Amino acid sequence: MMELGRFAPTPSGRMHLGNVFSALMAWLSAKSMGGEVLLRIEDLDTVRCTPQHTALLRDDLNWLGLHWDREQPCQSSQSARYAAILDELWQRELAYPCWCSRAEIEHAANAPHASDGHAIYPGTCRALSESERAARFEKKAPLWRLRVPDETISFTDGHFGPYSEDLAAECGDFILCRADGIFAYQLAVVADDIAAGVTQVVRGRDLLSSTPRQLYLYRLLGAEPPRYWHIPLLTAADGRRLSKRDRDLDLGLLRQHYTAAQLIGKLAHAAGLIDSEEPCTADELIPLFSWDKVPREDIAFDLK
Ligand code: GLU
Repeated sequence: MMELGRFAPTPSGRMHLGNVFSALMAWLSAKSMGGEVLLRIEDLDTVRCTPQHTALLRDDLNWLGLHWDREQPCQSSQSARYAAILDELWQRELAYPCWCSRAEIEHAANAPHASDGHAIYPGTCRALSESERAARFEKKAPLWRLRVPDETISFTDGHFGPYSEDLAAECGDFILCRADGIFAYQLAVVADDIAAGVTQVVRGRDLLSSTPRQLYLYRLLGAEPPRYWHIPLLTAADGRRLSKRDRDLDLGLLRQHYTAAQLIGKLAHAAGLIDSEEPCTADELIPLFSWDKVPREDIAFDLK
């Protein structure tokens, strides 16, 4: 079977160097296995994601030489597909509507918190009767949650090794669709990776903890999950995480000071693929790529 990797960027700002690193690693991983790369614009949040950022993103990827072989429709155009999946999960009594506000959840007695700081949903709306739900539907649009089992979901990440999470204890019933009708990343990413036949997912280690939720969705939807490789994050020189909001090391700035080959060379060196920061193209790195060379610690990046 042909390997299919993907870029799944969120156009909520100009790409920063960390986003470029993820795209480069995803591209090299797929290409070094003789595979192809798909581009999917993850613009679910239509307030933060703009067509201008999408256009710049495509231009930046092409400028970097990270050409994609296929493209999937952007997520903001796919609500009907996500709604059909949500409806199926609701029919199967796996998803349910929830009317609790964030404040109510935070203030629920002794609400335990997940490692990312969010209060674990105490399940208040899980067992509402049909008439209770009907009365609430009249008053307010709900958000939708997935009922998670008290089960540890385990998998082996290609780069970080074994990882597991007890969904009920450590995450709780998670959101599939917001009350304003915007579908959640967890649902959309799984629906789209299944639809495209993605066989490998390469992305920042900040998404490692989302993977058990996504694997559970694959199981419910009866689909074979891809293989996952999570990668270290790039940080600013002082160890701070790069952010689009701070316009840290973003391509608008970097393109004024560096050529694409210089940036690719710096990232390839940081990834352990070449011995010095020699300028090089993404194509030239394909035969040099190996997951064994890529570090596991976050990489502080000092561009001078
Ligand atoms: N759209 C996500 C982001 O830009 C990446 C999603 C993924 O790779 O699964 O952070």
